[in-house]
Amino acid sequence: MRVEPAASVSFDIEVPVAIIGAGAAGLVAALAAHEAGAEVLVVERDPVPRGSTALSAGLVPAPGTRWQRESAIEDSPELFARDIMAKAKNEPDPALVARLAGAVGPALEWLSHRHGLPFSVITDFRYPGHSANRMHGLPSRSGEELVDRLARAVEEAGIPVLCEATVDTLYTEDGAIRGIALVRPDGSRDRVACRALVLACNGYGGNKALVAQHVPELADALYFGHEGNQGDALLWGEALGAATRHLSGHQGHGSVAHPHGILITWATITEGGFQVNAEGRRFSDESKGYSEQAAEVLRQPGGTAVTVFDARIAGIARQFEDFRRAEGAGAIVAADTMAALAARLHLPEEALTATLAEVEALKRAGGRDDFGRSFAGVPMLSPPYRAVRVTGALFHTQGGLVVDGDARVLRQDGAPIPNLFAAGGAACGVSGTGPGGYLSGNGLLAAVALGRIAGQAAGAMA
Ligand SMILES: Cc1cc2nc3c(=O)[nH]c(=O)nc-3n(C[C@H](O)[C@H](O)[C@H](O)COP(=O)(O)OP(=O)(O)OC[C@H]3O[C@@H](n4cnc5c(N)ncnc54)[C@H](O)[C@@H]3O)c2cc1C
Repeated sequence: MRVEPAASVSFDIEVPVAIIGAGAAGLVAALAAHEAGAEVLVVERDPVPRGSTALSAGLVPAPGTRWQRESAIEDSPELFARDIMAKAKNEPDPALVARLAGAVGPALEWLSHRHGLPFSVITDFRYPGHSANRMHGLPSRSGEELVDRLARAVEEAGIPVLCEATVDTLYTEDGAIRGIALVRPDGSRDRVACRALVLACNGYGGNKALVAQHVPELADALYFGHEGNQGDALLWGEALGAATRHLSGHQGHGSVAHPHGILITWATITEGGFQVNAEGRRFSDESKGYSEQAAEVLRQPGGTAVTVFDARIAGIARQFEDFRRAEGAGAIVAADTMAALAARLHLPEEALTATLAEVEALKRAGGRDDFGRSFAGVPMLSPPYRAVRVTGALFHTQGGLVVDGDARVLRQDGAPIPNLFAAGGAACGVSGTGPGGYLSGNGLLAAVALGRIAGQAAGAMA
């Protein structure tokens, strides 16, 4: 990934706004820039827009939405901002947190009424750290549907998306961006001049060397995000003298069905399930969150754990396409008794039965275990039981280019690079420096809210 002077370069075409990446951030930015009156070109390395967005559950946290009001859920941007700051131990930039918390609800309502995305709010379970039910998703609760519907909206708006085109060079002049170069699979190249550029090409989770450098504890972990996320925005930013922050920040996940490689919703835990290792014993406070649980699971023998839950919880989890796929693939084990479950999973029966008894006693007493998990108000499990063997994985990185409230990329001295914007995983998010700072939904929050802000600002400038 290169940054070169524009002085002697002749460009093949010119567009007012160029956007690199056609995941949620890039597609939302494209819609917003187009609405601001600018002509837009989106450049995407894959044959069709997918990105990590397509791999996600597509759930976007948003406070104060009309869907929440219809379900009588009380929430506000201030409460959401407090939850984000609390989860990340006050590490994120409070101004950016407030900006995103205030922008994401209107962004979802805009995507719904302008572009027909039929969001609804999840009311039957809540992710750790959220003090209101504020996760919004499309009917299938899948990111594939999110990116498909966004791509369709972009197509209907007449915005060109140039696929199978990888941007490898940015051209600069007088401290601003003048254009980009892209290369196609047959080696042919084009140079595109632009008046504003949005980096929406996500983080560096797919780049082994950058992960080893910034997130060494997950250097050997399964990477569950999109392979195209090679850290190009970070590398260009560094070459441009941009400020970077929280590069060790990331989202892990301690609940990927093994060996099937399918995401199992954390509702299996929040609704009363627990995780045991190969000895049939619990090893952590699972209620802290799925992100920090990735490293906990990887520390167990074989780097795996078993999540134990029941048929009621399976009913809730079934709203997720991924869970239904996991059932279809035979990843979810069912049994009427713990003894039968232990036998099917090759776990020591006595230990597993004792673990269940301990957990259920804690729930009855509303107690807290030695790891710090409180079981007050947590529903009891009842037969028939369900279980799934899982491993820990890296989902995506949360550090990146520092941006201001208009998504403008800042230099190390705090001044903006005048016409360069970053959104989604390309920008430093709001999750701080460690896995525990990731509040569920921080990923798509930065993609959707910052994507819209970046598109509006880039569109207005061009
Ligand atoms: C399994 C999984 C589940 C998740 N679930 C959730 C969830 O429910 N809620 C949530 O908030 N977050 C979730 N996340 C995180 C979320 O998916 C990401 O934060 C979000 O999709 C990032 O969007 P993006 O547009 O920045 O990146 P992406 O969707 O990854 O899009 C970036 C695009 O840029 C393209 N690109 C990269 N480099 C170049 C280049 N040089 N030239 C051209 N194109 C390039 C890539 O091919 C890609 O298509 C999940 C992540 C994973 C992996």
